[in-house]
Amino acid sequence: MIRNDIKQISAYPVPERDGMIRLDAMESPYGLPDTLRAEWLKTLAEVEINRYPDSGMRDLRERLAERENVAPEQILIGNGSDEIIQMLLIAAEPGTCVFPQPTFVMYELISRWLRRPTASMPLERDFSLSAEQFLKLCAREKASIAFLACPNNPTGNLWPEETVRRIAEGFRGLLILDEAYAPFSERSHVGLVSEHVAVLRTFSKIGWAGLRFGYLIGEARFVEHLNKVRLPYNVNALTQASARLFLRHFDVFEEQARCIRAERGRVTAALMALEKVTVFPSQANFVLVRVPGADEVFEHLLARGILVKNLSRAGGLLSDTLRITIGTREENDRLLAALKEVLE
Ligand SMILES: *Cc1c(COP(=O)(O)O)cnc(C)c1O
Repeated sequence: MIRNDIKQISAYPVPERDGMIRLDAMESPYGLPDTLRAEWLKTLAEVEINRYPDSGMRDLRERLAERENVAPEQILIGNGSDEIIQMLLIAAEPGTCVFPQPTFVMYELISRWLRRPTASMPLERDFSLSAEQFLKLCAREKASIAFLACPNNPTGNLWPEETVRRIAEGFRGLLILDEAYAPFSERSHVGLVSEHVAVLRTFSKIGWAGLRFGYLIGEARFVEHLNKVRLPYNVNALTQASARLFLRHFDVFEEQARCIRAERGRVTAALMALEKVTVFPSQANFVLVRVPGADEVFEHLLARGILVKNLSRAGGLLSDTLRITIGTREENDRLLAALKEVLE
């Protein structure tokens, strides 16, 4: 009844997190300020949930277009950017999907659902990426679509501008620049959007993870075609109403992102001071560290009520690594204290 290759896939594991300090999933640690929360509840109370949501979302696309300095026709909104990745892999010409390794797992996973072949370009030991090698792989595979997370997850680094530009110029297929971490990064690539380059954005990492709201910026013609594989009511009415309100108060989320960037600097410095820890500089809201005996360190943190992401089982470049999402100042202090305890 179920395809054999689907049976072989292991489901994405979501750990038990009740009562834990959650530094595992790149969520914002901050909730809504009280006044905004009160206004939000009033807004939600007015939503007519007996009606289908607005399918075209013209007003939201206009808002986002204004923020990004593009035309509303260049914006497509998804139920999280994950959904847009799926739409892209449905709509792109048949052919291999190429991405660096390690990177965000959904590019590979959704390709497999859709029986699209994949090929990955291993990163160097310092997590850098050679544009020439990447382009060679794309040519050899006759790739029709490629993803570059900028900054990359789970490594946290941002490819140099020159690397991204050379890949954008040299690749003839569809290049998707996934900017899930743009709010924490020094650079965006909206300027590279062209007939074969599009940029993905999401507000999940800056406080909206539970709403599921992401968008793509591309050329109007491209967006028009991609829109044909969008489910008619993909973004629900509560999320649309929330997004309308929150986009009017976006300074709240920008300020929270500033706090996370500042905390990232503080946490990075404190981790670097720990002798056994190798810290990989990050432009995202998490830091990747390498620490001997990462499995035991992970278990020790867990016993202290702190959940991080243990990537060591992936092996290779990720052996003995933990990915730590930046939390509130207090949460970060608890993490640093628990790490010191286990490493000393
Ligand atoms: C978290 C993440 C996403 C998914 O974001 P949603 O909008 O929550 O679906 C996409 N790309 C990368 C690189 C991510 O880390």
